[in-house]
Amino acid sequence: MTEMARSYSLGLTGYPLEHSLSPRLHQAALSAMRLDGEYKLFPVPPFPAGEPEMIALLARLRSGELHGLNVTIPHKTAVLPFLDELSPAARLIGAVNTLSFRDGRLVGDNTDAPGFLHDLQRFAASAQPGFAVSQSDGDRLALVLGAGGAARAVVSALASSGWNVTIAFRRSDQAQARQLIDSLLPSFAHRSPPIRIESVLLDTSSLVNFDPTLLVNATPVGMWPDVNSNPWPSDLRFPSGMLVYDLVYKPPETALVRAARSAGLQAVNGLGMLVEQAALSLELWTGQPAPRSAMREAVAVKGPS
Ligand code: NAP
Repeated sequence: MTEMARSYSLGLTGYPLEHSLSPRLHQAALSAMRLDGEYKLFPVPPFPAGEPEMIALLARLRSGELHGLNVTIPHKTAVLPFLDELSPAARLIGAVNTLSFRDGRLVGDNTDAPGFLHDLQRFAASAQPGFAVSQSDGDRLALVLGAGGAARAVVSALASSGWNVTIAFRRSDQAQARQLIDSLLPSFAHRSPPIRIESVLLDTSSLVNFDPTLLVNATPVGMWPDVNSNPWPSDLRFPSGMLVYDLVYKPPETALVRAARSAGLQAVNGLGMLVEQAALSLELWTGQPAPRSAMREAVAVKGPS
């Protein structure tokens, strides 16, 4: 079969996967690109129970039976020992969301970080014309809520673009926040001026004097079906002029986005990041530009669910 006639066999592994929008996104993209192919779900339970299944799935990438695999919770870090190579971004973040077999090597990439940055730029420039996300000289502060996998990608993306970052964590998550900072800080501390990555408790008294340029919600709080929950403390006023980016995209208007807009702030959900990280994965696998508007249309969520 020539390269032109290839039928792409792609998919997503993680657990659970029933509600994933990825098949819809990628099928829409493949058909808009007039490429033959399919995007399937490969649910693999968490390790150690799922480890043999994951090894078998990765063997299908190595054999060429599969041409690309996305990875989501809980395997973004767990698969690292089974890979031959990591992209610089994946190495820095310590997690992968895109796997491909290139030049005889199983390679892990991370498109969450560039996907977030790209969509943040789109949002920030529409909210404040002329705003350039990557032109921070250590003079901008982002407050990131949560210290899990998505927060790692967001913090490394922002720090790479010259932002100072404070991670707000709930008490149970203190060790995860510390570990995130310890692993990322050495890559940024040498900059001039040095980038600050710090942490603080996610509560009213700790956040009352913060005046960030940007707030990012990287917790699952507010995600369907828990649609009335808001990670921002209810008795804390929003700093004026702050941009609000909620990684949650279901429902389309989360409680955080709604409250921020009511306070006169510009706020957006994470659907654009979802589309962009998928588009970047597809470009890695096919070597062709991905049709972002067709992808966005395919997952435009209507209504509360
Ligand atoms: P994760 O690894 O499970 O991390 C979640 C983080 O949020 C942890 O630090 C967790 O702390 C914290 N958290 C959970 N409940 C909280 C609460 N009630 N109050 C304060 N903090 C809380 O999950 P993830 O992969 O980072 O994903 C986070 C969210 O981002 C999910 O909703 C996911 O769907 C979304 N996401 C969106 C995109 C996109 O493309 N838009 C991409 C990736 C992720 P504990 O460890 O203490 O629970």
